[in-house]
Amino acid sequence: MMWKRMTAVSLTVGLLGLAGCGRVAAERQYKWSVHDMSRPRPLVVTPGAAVGAAPSDAVVLFGGKDLSQWASVKEGQTPTWQVRDGYMEVTPKTGNIRTKEGFGDCQLHVEWATPAGVSGKGQSGTNSGIFLMGRYEVQVLNSHGNKTYADGQAGAIYGQYPPLVNACREAGQWQTYDIVFRRPHFDKDGEMVQPARMTVFQNGVLVQDSTELLGTTTHKKRAKYELHGDEEPIMLQDHSDPVRYRNIWVRRIGETPVP
Ligand code: MG
Repeated sequence: MMWKRMTAVSLTVGLLGLAGCGRVAAERQYKWSVHDMSRPRPLVVTPGAAVGAAPSDAVVLFGGKDLSQWASVKEGQTPTWQVRDGYMEVTPKTGNIRTKEGFGDCQLHVEWATPAGVSGKGQSGTNSGIFLMGRYEVQVLNSHGNKTYADGQAGAIYGQYPPLVNACREAGQWQTYDIVFRRPHFDKDGEMVQPARMTVFQNGVLVQDSTELLGTTTHKKRAKYELHGDEEPIMLQDHSDPVRYRNIWVRRIGETPVP
């Protein structure tokens, strides 16, 4: 039998009925009854055929063939990162690249590899990064046998939060990031009223758990927020090291449905 949908609009106040307690609690109102058949069902998404493959509603940002979804951050320049054998590789000192499209709340899948046989020295030798909204960096670095500051190793939100654990594979091996990003919100005066949040799995291991960001990634100083749009390009960093990327896709995600 289907439960009758709750339609009461007026606030119902229930007494807890605890003798002598005197506490009064507002009863929570819900939009939908439990198992309501009239509740809209989610869109159907066909998952990728293999683990890590793009699902049907993803925007494929790099499928292994070309940089058609990417632009140089240098005004008017075409990106010159190398594309071969299904991956792209940073051409050192040619500059960061960014997506032509902007994204806000999203799920992002990226595969990356630092140079084989290069352990790196702290922040040099294996450095790159993935900047959500062109601002919020998830660090890309070899952190397998390479010591650096904790908030700058692989899986860190650079300059803010170290990863929960070090889940880095050896240099040269392909690694995955699966990122859930919630953009920050600003009021009409440009003040941040809801910080950005990020969840990151590295090689299937949780390294950021709905982490609340402090602001735009900076170097050697405390981050703070700067007003920006609701959708901004995703950027990959040229830190002068030949880091590789492949199989990059993103899905725009909506708000969590109300109960
Ligand atoms: Mg970096």
